[in-house]
Amino acid sequence: MGKRYINTKKFSLLPFAFYLLTLIGCSQPLYKDAEFIMGTYVEVVSRDPRAKDIVFSEFKRLEGIFNLFDENSVLSRLNATGSLTASQELFEILKKSKEFYKKTNGAFDVTIAPLSLLWKKAIKNKELPKDEDIKNALSLVGYDDVYLDEKTSNVKLLKLGSKIDLGGIAKGFAIDRAVRLLRQAKITSCIVNAGGDLYCLGENYKQLWRVGIRDPRMSKQIVGKLELENMAAATSGDYEQFFIFQNKRYSHIINPKTGYPADSGIIFATVIAPDALTADALATALIVLGKDKGMLVLKPFKGVSAKFMDENGRNYDL
Ligand code: ADP
Ligand code: MG
Repeated sequence: MGKRYINTKKFSLLPFAFYLLTLIGCSQPLYKDAEFIMGTYVEVVSRDPRAKDIVFSEFKRLEGIFNLFDENSVLSRLNATGSLTASQELFEILKKSKEFYKKTNGAFDVTIAPLSLLWKKAIKNKELPKDEDIKNALSLVGYDDVYLDEKTSNVKLLKLGSKIDLGGIAKGFAIDRAVRLLRQAKITSCIVNAGGDLYCLGENYKQLWRVGIRDPRMSKQIVGKLELENMAAATSGDYEQFFIFQNKRYSHIINPKTGYPADSGIIFATVIAPDALTADALATALIVLGKDKGMLVLKPFKGVSAKFMDENGRNYDL
């Protein structure tokens, strides 16, 4: 019968390079839809036409809570006032963020906001921040100074001026929430892909979902293939947002210990995990930690594996 994709939107017009993970060899009828939410294309592939609305509306709802750049978001209110009683979602994601801060020895730290905002501006203007500004921002970073009250769901940023950036974990959280809703709606087969962070729900016509990892520096080349069922994969790297200054590459993933963009020699890391939040947070952390420390940190996680590439193009599997 050949390929029979049902495009309910003009999916094929979307920029190819946005998808680091791509669907391989699928020849059965599927609905494919994409919308730009949380700063990325959220793509839904499913046999069930209801899947896309469930996923997109959950992503939009959570974006309204977590968006650092929307002054009306709940997160912005927390960042502005330093204290609030969190909704269930916000409290949950902050708790998870703390867990990953601890388990990655501080490499994953959502209090990175003062630094990530500084470097975001630098990437935009292609100009290094001043040392003094980096130092000041660095002094505000550290999850130990976030207080979470389990009983009241009260959150306090104990250091005046500190801020939270959920950019390294929000997509994973949203994917897991969306998948939970899909399951509740008895949808048993779907891929939710948020710009390379994805979950493969069930099987695809009795076969595992097959996705390819694109080469981060040459977006059309596939460097790895994954076959997944009820598993998540997330990819982080220095390929999407960066600038080059005096032959050095500065990316949007920051080392919370130095205040500078991660410089571990890993150019991309894909983490495969039972849930998307774990995959998302650990992929970001791996870029900071590098090969040796990263392998040590990942070891205790059950059901988690990783593939990463160093700047010389060498591949590693864990
Ligand atoms: P992307 O969002 O590009 O897919 P990531 O999941 O790796 O990739 O998230 C990168 C984002 O995470 C940055 O844009 C920033 O908002 C945030 N971030 C940067 N450094 C860290 C860090 N060390 N810990 C937690 N979050 C970080
Ligand atoms: Mg991440």
